[in-house]
Amino acid sequence: MVWHTVPALIQSLFPKRIWEGDATGNRVYLTFDDGPVPGVTDYVLEELACRGQKATFFMVGDNIQKHPALAREVLEAGNGIGNHTFHHLNGWKTSLTEYLENIRDFDRIAADRLGIQTQLFRPPYGMISRSQAKVVLETKKIVMWNVLTGDYERGIDPEVILAKSIQLIQSGSIVVLHDQQKTQEILPKFLPDFLDFLSEREFETALL
Ligand SMILES: [Zn+2]
Repeated sequence: MVWHTVPALIQSLFPKRIWEGDATGNRVYLTFDDGPVPGVTDYVLEELACRGQKATFFMVGDNIQKHPALAREVLEAGNGIGNHTFHHLNGWKTSLTEYLENIRDFDRIAADRLGIQTQLFRPPYGMISRSQAKVVLETKKIVMWNVLTGDYERGIDPEVILAKSIQLIQSGSIVVLHDQQKTQEILPKFLPDFLDFLSEREFETALL
């Protein structure tokens, strides 16, 4: 079973994490995790640009190192960039020291290759321990989500993704999508329709 939303109870257990954005003015917050990946991120950029839409890309530092030009394209198109660790680490399986060092490694590559500093952080898999979160929150915002498209789920029907996303989205929603190898095939099967829906409903795609 695929969870398309985050139960209010879970959200209330972690009140310092950001589960939704500013809901005034018909705004939604699109996020793409795990890139930049050639053949996927550039596709997403085209789909956003032709509709005048924007998103926040939670990048993996190692992918910025491998594809700095593509990361710069994301930025130059007016999108936001957030920290998703350097090696896409699972916080529950990583020591505090190693986790924090990996986040700093991301910050270093982002400063070096893109000339940016970001306060936005999203834990890979949504898994971060309380002790890790406590330290991260001293300097960053931990951005979670409240609409999961399930785009990375093996065998998921793109029509289900589209229907669920349309059903759940409302002003303030933070939507999780992925620009990585696993979603390369499925994105063209639902993303254009989803972005068209947002345009038709006059949702502004805002940055976090
Ligand atoms: Zn991820």
